[in-house]
Amino acid sequence: MTETSTERPVAGAPPRDDILLDVRNLKTYFRVMDGVVPAVDGVNFSLGKGHTLGIVGESGSGKSVTALTVMRLLDIPPAEIGEDSEAWFDGRDLLKLPESDMRRIRGNDIAMIFQEPLTSLNPVFTVGDQIAEQVELHMKVKAREARDRAVEMLRLVGIPSPERRAKQYPHELSGGMRQRVMIGMALSCEPKLLIADEPTTALDVTVQAQILELLKAIQERTGAALILITHDLGVVAEMVDNVIVMYAGQVVEQGTVDQVLLEPRMPYTMGLIESIPTVEKRGGRLSAISGVVPSPFHLPPHCRFEPRCPYRWETCRTVTPELYNAGDGRVARCHLHLVEATARREAAIAQHRQNMAMGRRFTGAPDRLGDR
Ligand code: SF4
Repeated sequence: MTETSTERPVAGAPPRDDILLDVRNLKTYFRVMDGVVPAVDGVNFSLGKGHTLGIVGESGSGKSVTALTVMRLLDIPPAEIGEDSEAWFDGRDLLKLPESDMRRIRGNDIAMIFQEPLTSLNPVFTVGDQIAEQVELHMKVKAREARDRAVEMLRLVGIPSPERRAKQYPHELSGGMRQRVMIGMALSCEPKLLIADEPTTALDVTVQAQILELLKAIQERTGAALILITHDLGVVAEMVDNVIVMYAGQVVEQGTVDQVLLEPRMPYTMGLIESIPTVEKRGGRLSAISGVVPSPFHLPPHCRFEPRCPYRWETCRTVTPELYNAGDGRVARCHLHLVEATARREAAIAQHRQNMAMGRRFTGAPDRLGDR
């Protein structure tokens, strides 16, 4: 399970035994010349052992920084982590551990796959040597055993002739094969948690589908928990149990895949769903949410999505929306649930359904809404 409720455990207390990762009030800032930039602003979520979670949002929403903060892969400074932030993994708060313990956890217990494998692989070593080195370092086995395991991992991720491929350098492999190598390397030490950050963005569509299928099959076979970070809600639909939607550093909606995809409560989520390319939309205009994620230096003071939201009204400009509990463990950050917004909420839902049915871009229904 993945807990998505607004009720959180007591600060400083370890989570229940069935929770693998429990992130509490995670805040990450970057201190730059012009001031302090809030990249992640009070994110909470938990992930059960062996479960899967998607973190979705456009570039600049804070999803990758969330993962890098949990992995302690950001340089401090310029990054700063909130004093009361916690990231419990397997009973220990990662944000309080000495770096030597973190090094053991990275690669051993938590592995990360990045978007561009060519920059993550070392060009001067064969891929077999790179996997074997990782295995030797983390599993404390002899060189021969590590080399055998490297070949075994290449076979597991579907690379043909793995003995021969193990002796090749990264530049001799295709993009899809390099990403398979990265997945093999990440899984070589049998991590409890795999974090995949846009693992297919740099690949063509056919290879994307193969890599996602592979990730899902391996996750099911090994029982590792998975966090999939992506800008594409269509990808998470096939891959994960639960979804977090992030916007401008905050969680704006959380729930199961069905809850979020079938009945979104927040207009940003509606826009992301309408942006999913489908066969029906082929040949038509690909929908995108107009406008851009606000600069962290100039965040709108209340609802951060307000300048782009077709359903905004006065309350959105004067009252900060908090996450509200929308029932069945789901939460959303939007004023549309207020009684005063009943007509607006119904218009948003009707318009979303119509846009979905007709493959139209994300728009509001201004004629029905009046004040904006
Ligand atoms: S709070 Fe208002 S502006 Fe923000 S997403 Fe909801 S309706 Fe739109």
